[in-house]
Amino acid sequence: MAQESWQLALQNSIVRVEQLATRFEFDHRSLIPVESRYPLRITPYYADLIEQVGDPIWKQCVPDLCELDETGFIDPLAEDEFSPVPTVIHRYPDRVIFYVSGVCASYCRFCTRKRKIGCSDSSVSFRELRDGIDYIAANTQIRDVIFSGGDPLLLPDSVLKDLLQRIHAIPHVEIIRLGSRIPVTLPERITEKLCTMLKQFAPLYLNAHFNHPRELTAEAKEACGRLADAGIVLGNQTVLLRGVNDDPHIIAELFRGLLKMRVRPYYLHQMDLVSGTDHFRTSVNTGLTIMHSLRGEVSGLAIPNYVIDLPGGKGKVELLPKYVKKDGGKLLIKARDGSVVEYPEVLDIVTERGC
Ligand SMILES: *Cc1c(COP(=O)(O)O)cnc(C)c1O
Repeated sequence: MAQESWQLALQNSIVRVEQLATRFEFDHRSLIPVESRYPLRITPYYADLIEQVGDPIWKQCVPDLCELDETGFIDPLAEDEFSPVPTVIHRYPDRVIFYVSGVCASYCRFCTRKRKIGCSDSSVSFRELRDGIDYIAANTQIRDVIFSGGDPLLLPDSVLKDLLQRIHAIPHVEIIRLGSRIPVTLPERITEKLCTMLKQFAPLYLNAHFNHPRELTAEAKEACGRLADAGIVLGNQTVLLRGVNDDPHIIAELFRGLLKMRVRPYYLHQMDLVSGTDHFRTSVNTGLTIMHSLRGEVSGLAIPNYVIDLPGGKGKVELLPKYVKKDGGKLLIKARDGSVVEYPEVLDIVTERGC
């Protein structure tokens, strides 16, 4: 069968730091131990977004010596412990991650699943996929299935369609979500044919993973437009990354730009404590400062929840700047201009008069 253009693009991806040496001046030899430890792949499209060594695109996709620092955990969210079968992560009662692919179009240096994604033992067998489907079908409390990996959109259309059909046919599954960075790194994968196929599986949600305004290109916008036209509800999960986007103006520009692409910011993630990614971590205070500055600065539609996924598999918790203080029977609430406004609190009891 003839290859599609996105499959050719994947084949022409950069998989050795040496391949960047013709375009950029840097000590690529020193990075060989890093690329042999954690795989490298950068699609031609994403590589073209790099303007210079060390810029926000470079940092996200080119190996760095800091990755050899072992601070943190191999599996900070204890995902392996919460996997009843290898392709399912079941941490919340009503929703699961369905791990359908062990590869991505480009490997994020800050990946939470750095322990396995792109590594030789990351591949998913048909048997494991079948076990995942059986598990989801047998557990009637599961309402929401999140296709993840790796990237689900790297599966061929026929395989993806088959999996979606099987999950969609399970009576207790109410919604399906796709978690994919393909709109960011390989937008040519979002073909009309793919969108027509996905359209059958409504209600279908897709969370993309844009981290920097420079990723909001005309190609990405078209890809998101095709998905939205197919009735897929688009969200975005951004990771707060030191030296990439840990700045209120960059984040505001990113979130405003996403809305223009019909993508609603869903989560801003505090970095997980993943071994080999410590150099990307910002303080929680930085995240709270950014969240505080967003309110009033951008449309409320552009404001996601800022979350930490707690170590040990304790789940996501949202973090908010401290706006409210209690003072006797009233609340003291800090307004955007810094002034403090008194707000009367009410007691949650019914009075003698019955009202
Ligand atoms: C993040 C996550 C989900 C989805 O959480 P939502 O808050 O519903 O988006 C589900 N399962 C696991 C294991 C997760 O880490």
